[in-house]
Amino acid sequence: MERRDPIPYHSVVTHTLSTDPAVRQAYAADASGLILTPDAVARPASAAEVADIMREAAASTTAVTAAGGQSSMTGGSITDHGILLSLRAMDRVLDLDPVAGRVRVEPGIGVADLKRRLAAEGFLFAPDPTSEEEAALGGSIACNASGARSLRYGATRRHVTGLTVVLASGETVELRRPALEKNTVGYAPVHDPVDWFIGSEGTLGIVVAAELALLPLPERVTGLGIPFADEADALRFVVAAREGMRTGAVAPRCLELLDARALELVRAGEGGGQWLGQAFVYTEEEHPGDRDLDFDAWLALAEAHHAQVDDILVFDDDAKIRTARLLRHDVPATMAERGNAFAPQGGRRVGTDWAVPYPRLAEAIGVARDCIARHGLPLPVMYGHAGNGHPHMDFVAHDADELHRVETAIRETLERIIAMGGTVAAEHGIGKIKRQWLPLQLSPMQLTAQRALKQALDPDGILAPGNVWGGEG
Ligand SMILES: Cc1cc2nc3c(=O)[nH]c(=O)nc-3n(C[C@H](O)[C@H](O)[C@H](O)COP(=O)(O)OP(=O)(O)OC[C@H]3O[C@@H](n4cnc5c(N)ncnc54)[C@H](O)[C@@H]3O)c2cc1C
Repeated sequence: MERRDPIPYHSVVTHTLSTDPAVRQAYAADASGLILTPDAVARPASAAEVADIMREAAASTTAVTAAGGQSSMTGGSITDHGILLSLRAMDRVLDLDPVAGRVRVEPGIGVADLKRRLAAEGFLFAPDPTSEEEAALGGSIACNASGARSLRYGATRRHVTGLTVVLASGETVELRRPALEKNTVGYAPVHDPVDWFIGSEGTLGIVVAAELALLPLPERVTGLGIPFADEADALRFVVAAREGMRTGAVAPRCLELLDARALELVRAGEGGGQWLGQAFVYTEEEHPGDRDLDFDAWLALAEAHHAQVDDILVFDDDAKIRTARLLRHDVPATMAERGNAFAPQGGRRVGTDWAVPYPRLAEAIGVARDCIARHGLPLPVMYGHAGNGHPHMDFVAHDADELHRVETAIRETLERIIAMGGTVAAEHGIGKIKRQWLPLQLSPMQLTAQRALKQALDPDGILAPGNVWGGEG
């Protein structure tokens, strides 16, 4: 990208732009372990201000990187290039239509905060990234965030019905998903531009408002924690539970797995001492308020897979489920903290985000561990969304040399994962850290088409430079 003079920071947008070093520093980190300090920070309070900023940025070819909660694991929400545009001040609920089950909100609202406000009205906004207390809605849309309960409800994309987007030019566009049942006009990728921006990691436009589809709040939810002495049994249990979803024997909304190393971290947390076994499956099921969970169906499945049935934990109210979620959340959070301690030596936490079709999960984990062992690395901490064939493996690289070995092992793993029909990144996006993996998955034809869309919407490359693009050469 050719850079012209940056925005004169004393211009019309002065009231939202700061070059104060302390402010710039405050927006220089996300959860990736990278530090990138922006030239200036803008904190607009309205969509009109965002449009002003983008018009001026377009005129001076100044880079603009959007940021929400800055919980990105991939360096997507930080930059050392131009303006960091924090949307956090735009955090209003604009309109709730209880009849249609729709809400229109600004992008800076916290995901968990929004969910609590909607729950008070009897509605569920289903996406539940583990980071929901840190993440903002705009960031979650830009990453197409998912979570444990995506097993039942899918990722964020499924719940977004419309977007207001400020383009790189400063133009504002209103987009709604078509209500058509039939349509043959144009190529399929252009049918619904809402999808272009979901998962685009700030590279195609700035989301300034979103309309979301809501579900009725479930009457009751019960969580179960099922320990196993053998991880292989836990993995077979997960596949059997997926089969049980198909036959109606069980109806899990999540199937989360923790391996022995992740369990050690959980046990260090308050209340985690009861999470026993060498592997642990956490599941939740919704059921009517006047009926208890069909525990017998789960017990039969657990017994058939040699679970430690006497040590099964039951989380039968909201507070207990929240505590379980916090313990699960502590696993990636602790690993990030441990990795950050090695930044001075060139180390960091490295987390994988690959996924495979769920019946192949055990095979894929074996492949990954073989690659890791070949490079003489200790086994990573493994946890995550086993029901979707999507585990996370977290490493702590203690220095630059180990980081290189970890990344080599991951590259070898990902090549095999792709051959198994998998993806290199199922929920955290590509950002800056994973962009070298993009060409492993997308063919030259797909990359060309994707580049054409970027070129059409952001010809000067001012939006989130370094995100997604830059690793394909
Ligand atoms: C402990 C932990 C657990 C996590 N668990 C999960 C998980 O379970 N599932 C999951 O999907 N992710 C998870 N993440 C990753 C991350 O939290 C999510 O991707 C989250 O949705 C990002 O939201 P955010 O508001 O923090 O976005 P940010 O980090 O601020 O930004 C993320 C990306 O979105 C872009 N962006 C932000 N706002 C806008 C906007 N308004 N318009 C256009 N682009 C924008 C940014 O440029 C950046 O590329 C986890 C992270 C942590 C630290």
